[in-house]
Amino acid sequence: MEVKMWRWLFSLFFFFYGVDKIDCSKTVVTIGVLLEDLSSQINIPLNSTIYKKNLFDQRAYFSTKMMQVSSTDTFEASLTLCSMLDSDLGVVAVYSDSIRTIPILESTCTFFEIPFLITNWKSPSPIKRDPEKVRALINFFPEAELFAKGLADIVRSLQWSSFIIIYENEEGLIRMQEILKLQELNPDSKQNNILVMQLGPGPDYRPLLKKIRNTTEDNIILDCNTNKIMMILTQAKEVGMLELHNRYFITSLDAHTLDLSYLNTTANITSIRLHDPKSDDFLNTVHRWELTEFENHNRRVPLDPLSIKTETVLFHDAVLLLTDTVNAMSIRPGINISPLSCNRTETSQDGFTLRKYMLINTPSMTLSGPLKFNDEGGRIDFNIHVVDNIDDTVIATSYAANNSLVLHRDYNQTMDAAVLNLQKITVIVSSRIGEPYLMYRQPSYEGEILTGNNRYEGYSMDLIAGIAKIIGFNFQFEITEKYGNYDPTERRWNGLIGEILEKRAHLAVCDLTITPERREVVDFSMPFMTLGIGILYYKGEADKTTDMFKFLEPFSTSVWIYTATLYLVISIVLYFIARMTPGDWENPQPYEENPEELENIWDIKNCFWLTLGSIMTQGCDILPKGISSRIAVGVWWFFSLIMTSSYTANLAAFLTKASLEAPIDSAEALSKQTKIKYGLLSGGSTESFFANSNFSTYQRMWLNMQQAKPSVFEASNDDGVQRVRNTKNALYAFLMESTQIEYVMATKPDLKRVGDLLDSKSYGIAMPMNSPYRSAINKAVLEMQETGVLEKLKKTWWEKNKEEPKDSEQDTGDETDSLKLGISNLGGIFLVLGIGIAMSCAFAIVEFLWNCRNISVEEHITYMQALKLELKFACNVFITKKRVKPLLSEASSSESEKNEENKNDSKSMIHGILQSAESNLNIVH
Ligand code: ASP
Repeated sequence: MEVKMWRWLFSLFFFFYGVDKIDCSKTVVTIGVLLEDLSSQINIPLNSTIYKKNLFDQRAYFSTKMMQVSSTDTFEASLTLCSMLDSDLGVVAVYSDSIRTIPILESTCTFFEIPFLITNWKSPSPIKRDPEKVRALINFFPEAELFAKGLADIVRSLQWSSFIIIYENEEGLIRMQEILKLQELNPDSKQNNILVMQLGPGPDYRPLLKKIRNTTEDNIILDCNTNKIMMILTQAKEVGMLELHNRYFITSLDAHTLDLSYLNTTANITSIRLHDPKSDDFLNTVHRWELTEFENHNRRVPLDPLSIKTETVLFHDAVLLLTDTVNAMSIRPGINISPLSCNRTETSQDGFTLRKYMLINTPSMTLSGPLKFNDEGGRIDFNIHVVDNIDDTVIATSYAANNSLVLHRDYNQTMDAAVLNLQKITVIVSSRIGEPYLMYRQPSYEGEILTGNNRYEGYSMDLIAGIAKIIGFNFQFEITEKYGNYDPTERRWNGLIGEILEKRAHLAVCDLTITPERREVVDFSMPFMTLGIGILYYKGEADKTTDMFKFLEPFSTSVWIYTATLYLVISIVLYFIARMTPGDWENPQPYEENPEELENIWDIKNCFWLTLGSIMTQGCDILPKGISSRIAVGVWWFFSLIMTSSYTANLAAFLTKASLEAPIDSAEALSKQTKIKYGLLSGGSTESFFANSNFSTYQRMWLNMQQAKPSVFEASNDDGVQRVRNTKNALYAFLMESTQIEYVMATKPDLKRVGDLLDSKSYGIAMPMNSPYRSAINKAVLEMQETGVLEKLKKTWWEKNKEEPKDSEQDTGDETDSLKLGISNLGGIFLVLGIGIAMSCAFAIVEFLWNCRNISVEEHITYMQALKLELKFACNVFITKKRVKPLLSEASSSESEKNEENKNDSKSMIHGILQSAESNLNIVH
């Protein structure tokens, strides 16, 4: 508002205070101006400044002598200068914009002691000048060496570790000399490369640009004439060199006059200026120029502040300094100006005095910052404004006076610009398949065709979707296999890091660890997860130390069940065999030679006692005498012998195993043993951790892993997990990141993490070095973290496939299972027992039948009657005594009983047994 008012007051003043107010008594001071093109933009500040000076200052009246000068012919240029010096009242100083003729014009002016003003970059003179000899030159363009240093400071502040310099001519190379020295900053780094390429004649710069594209270098310093910049950038866009990851630093001071928005690019373009076209002083001056134009030509020509070239700005300051100094000198004794002829040796009287005062004068209202010169007339104080062309903001200023560079990057503004760029494109996100970060999505119904991002799901997908929602960009997932390692043979990075470096992706996300090596070549977002390396191992081991029933372990459950069942069966079988075999019917009174009845001691209790005594290796006080029962007992003894000795041996092994084997509870413990192999994922940060570790334990582990045969390295974490589960006797442990271990433990309850974490690190989203959108991504990650979204995501994906432990799994998960004696190991002895018992049963039957035959012969009854009698007797478990000679009535009784049974089928078993007991009692008494 104030500025506008000021402008209006200024304009009004101009209208009412006309040019007719000139005081004719003033000294007329003519400024000589040599231009290649008389319609040059410098006319505007020239006219305006002189107009203003003449209007407000009463001491001198300024006029101009303008002549066209040859841009190439130095002789013609010197003639033009001579005619200018000789004209009318002579000139107080000469300005020229002809770069090529500067040397001849300068030496002529020096000869006539007339100040010679220029506004162009001038290469430092290789010839050492005589310090005593005064030169006519005053150059308003910064000193070449200081300017080169300023450029180098700016490149350093851009933090480019490598770049390509495109220069047009030798002068450009001189400007780049300080930048080239940046290579020395880090000569060892494989990334700190500076490539230098010459632009060539043009106008087709595509071959050169394609060559640069193939180097995968993103950072380009472009030093060329302003009128070529648009063409080069347009062609760069055509060859795909104006993408989000491309960064340009344009050294031309007139880049602001170009409308780069035509390029519609997401590339980062940085340029420089010596003035600030947005400052109030500059805008007021430009407005004044407009008004003067209106006064002089009676037409209003709007001037765009951004169209004002640096040369025009510097010329304004030159005229300002000259007129100010002349005015100051005009007071007393005044300034003498007279025409000079090139044919005479007469020199200007006050020319060098004027130059001397100009060098020390410091006018206010300059547009190009502070004016300070050395004795040579070189400008040693100036400011270079570094401009980010995305949003046309000054991000830094280089101050030559105190050799410093101040960054004024407004992070919010830069971030907004970067976000705008991200929104314009489809962000390519490189990732890899690996549970639970990214997995193939199952179609929700048969025949569903999944495309694009729909093909995948997982933590990474949700994370990027969350960030994309906050920033507002579209993204596309692309799959890569590896995480990313430097391959020394191919001299390039592979995997996700390679994708970023080779510009195939804007972001890379998965369980990608932030490592110093990776950080050297790519940028990472702030961490979204923290973790460390842990040891994944089989679960069984811990249980054994607290088992109260360890004594059961030598046999498997099935063996215990079979043995117990067999004990019962054999005892019962023995009981019947003993009853059937005549050998076990003994004379109860040995002194009586012909006893009436025989006794069988093998009741069911004694049978159980005998078998128990044998299997406990204690023996028994009574033993069978019948052949069949002895066979049966014999095989049982054999069975007992094998079982008890197997049990004893195995129990000893089980009990000693625990004390002999140190439990694996740390990396240290792992490293000190050789029985349990351990490995890790190849090509990841875990491998790098061990390969680069200086800690002796990890070095030892790394050596062991490298020497292990077969290889202990796995291509994926999944393979490692499978190997831990499948290796017999838990002889393999897998070194894996803790987040993965957590996930595996949730989904596979037979696995566990052993010991503490070996290190501490984080996962981050990778992106190209110095990515402008890094802050935006960081902000989004932070927001997701603060709102608990990250935590929720982790919970969702880590618990999604969670499995409750199954009993069967726990059983099989016990590592001592393999040591247990199962039915497969002891099947043979069970078989022997079976055969033996079968044999003894067969023998008992034969003996029994033979005995029946003898009875039938001795007692004169039929064989069938004898068989029935004996069978009935053998089956009656309550009878333990037997007549030596059975009564015939037994046979008839049994016959009548049979009839009885036939009559009444519904008689109970107990009734039958009681009946049988009654008949036996009859027999005895
Ligand atoms: N997360 C690791 C990486 O980024 C892979 C690993 O070693 O487990 O390389």
